[in-house]
Amino acid sequence: MWLSRVLFGAVKFDENEEYAAFQYKFLCVVMLTGGLFTAVFLVTTHLGLNPMDARHIWSMRLFTTAAFVLWALLRGRQHWFLPIAWTYEAVCLWEYTSALLFVPEDELRILWFYINVPGVYILLGQRAGLFITSLTVVGLVLVNPHLSAPYSVHALMTAMLSLVYFALFFHVYGNRSLSYFARMRTYNRRLQALATRDSLTGILNARAYHETCQKLLSQARRDHSPSAVLFIDLDHFKRINDQHGHLAGDRVLQAVALCVQQHLRASDVFGRIGGEEFCVFLPHTDAAGAKQVAEDLRTHIEALMPEIAPATQLRVTASIGVTSVSPEDESLQTIQHRADEAMYQAKQQGRNRVSVI
Ligand code: GH3
Ligand code: MG
Ligand code: MG
Repeated sequence: MWLSRVLFGAVKFDENEEYAAFQYKFLCVVMLTGGLFTAVFLVTTHLGLNPMDARHIWSMRLFTTAAFVLWALLRGRQHWFLPIAWTYEAVCLWEYTSALLFVPEDELRILWFYINVPGVYILLGQRAGLFITSLTVVGLVLVNPHLSAPYSVHALMTAMLSLVYFALFFHVYGNRSLSYFARMRTYNRRLQALATRDSLTGILNARAYHETCQKLLSQARRDHSPSAVLFIDLDHFKRINDQHGHLAGDRVLQAVALCVQQHLRASDVFGRIGGEEFCVFLPHTDAAGAKQVAEDLRTHIEALMPEIAPATQLRVTASIGVTSVSPEDESLQTIQHRADEAMYQAKQQGRNRVSVI
């Protein structure tokens, strides 16, 4: 999106920074529109369509320049958000006070202070909102007697009370929306975990494994880099269930998954694709490398001796099929099928071994 690039620059927020990303973009847009509107106002004044006090014209010039300069400074520098947001707020307060002092013919200029409040709540949070609201109320009361056409006591009271109400609404709403954001993020994470993780072992489930492999496979094809797949099937697993119970079988599956996970690289993809069947996709790995990884995993599984009950350990072994990805492979299914065949070969040759096709 070229427009987004122009307005916001090259910024990157991570997944749990949605609100910060929104605040950053909001500030960029607010500064640009603020600067633009005031620039248009200035042009009409220079054309004689909108005569104005010379002092306020200077304030508007300062405001327009500051808005564009601050936007240019913030663009692409998300870590400057707070100082820039506060500086912009100070410039805004100056601009609105200037209107209050130097444009007496505009009775509605006090509305700018109202517009300011939600902006502060959104950009700087509740404490800043409270602070700026109090400052505005006190400031208006102190400045009013010095205006060339002061507001009546009634008008001032109405303005003050409605400003406080206005701020109160944003205060409460800000609280609610932030906690809503936080809850949505937690629920999204839980849903994501439920959709992609195997509930027993915590590793990728079959669907997530295949999806991730599909992406890596396309990447490997683009880069012409070698990759391989391991198919791990536990030996005589049914016997474990039959002799020690299903719960013991579950403990073995958890222990094996953890063991394999600990001996893989972070870039490898590891998933449970069936009951006691696991698969590993090894990017940037050739046939010899994959065979070595499989042999290491087989040895680690054999040495694992998972504890299925207090003081009861069990020897578990696995047969592992290995296949490397070739440019002729039509799909991930073809590769998975070949790894499965290699695993069956390992079973036929006596189990607890590695077989390569
Ligand atoms: P082989 O060496 O030929 O692979 O023999 P096996 O007994 O491991 O093979 P088989 O595929 O016949 O048995 C797999 C067993 O895994 C059958 C099933 O009851 C068990 N199983 C599948 N999912 C789970 C699970 O989530 N927990 C437990 N405890 N057992 C499971
Ligand atoms: Mg099996
Ligand atoms: Mg088995």
